[in-house]
Amino acid sequence: MARYREAVCRLCRREGVKLFLKGQRCLTDKCEIEKRNFAPGQHGKSRRPKIVGYGLQLREKQKLRRLYGILEDQFRSYFEKAAKMKGITGENLLLMLERRLDNAVYRLGLASSRAAARQLVRHGHIQVSGRKVNIPSFAVAPGQEIVLRESTRTNAAVLRSLDLSGGRNIPPWLQFDREGFKAKVISMPKREDVNFPIQEQMVVELYSK
Ligand code: SF4
Repeated sequence: MARYREAVCRLCRREGVKLFLKGQRCLTDKCEIEKRNFAPGQHGKSRRPKIVGYGLQLREKQKLRRLYGILEDQFRSYFEKAAKMKGITGENLLLMLERRLDNAVYRLGLASSRAAARQLVRHGHIQVSGRKVNIPSFAVAPGQEIVLRESTRTNAAVLRSLDLSGGRNIPPWLQFDREGFKAKVISMPKREDVNFPIQEQMVVELYSK
C-alpha cells in the first residue's frame, strides 16, 4: 500500500503543530517544531500568513489526514462514509479515524507513533477477539478485545513504548490490562476523546464544495 515516505517532520512544520509522527523524538528537544517552527522551503522563514477560507479548510484537512497517516483517496472515502451516516459529519469522520485498529494500538501505548502501530498490525502482531487482524484500517467496536501476540510481548520497542507512554494516552473508550498486554473496547469513542486541536467542520466544508 502507498505511504508517505518523505521526512515527516516537514509535515509538522508545514502545519505549524506537532503531529507526533516520530515516536519518542517528538517529546524531546530534538523535535523540529521545537527547533524550527516555521514552514519548510525557501520562504518558510517569512511570517506565517493568516489563513482564512479555502486555505484554512485545506490546512485542517491536511492536518487531520497527516495525523492519522492516511492518503488522500482513503481519506476522502472516509469522508463519504461519514457524510452518509446519521449525526454530524465532521464528528463521524473523526470517530471513524479514531476507531482504526492502528490508532487504538497507538493510543494504548503499544507503539510510539501511529506509523509504528500500523507496522505492528500489518506484521500480524495484533489479534482482535482471538483472531489475527493485519488490516490497520480495521474499525474496532465495543465488546472487542485487542491483544498483543504472545511472542511480541518481549519486543524491546513495544516495552520501551509502554514504559515511556506510562498510560497517558489511553482514552476512556479503551480499558487496558498492561500486564496481560490486552485491552477491551468498552464503548464507542466520543468527540472529546480526540485530544488534538482540529476544526473538523472545515474539512466538511472543503469536501462539500
Ligand atoms: Fe513532528 Fe515529531 Fe518531527 Fe516534532 S519530532 S516535528 S512532533 S514528527
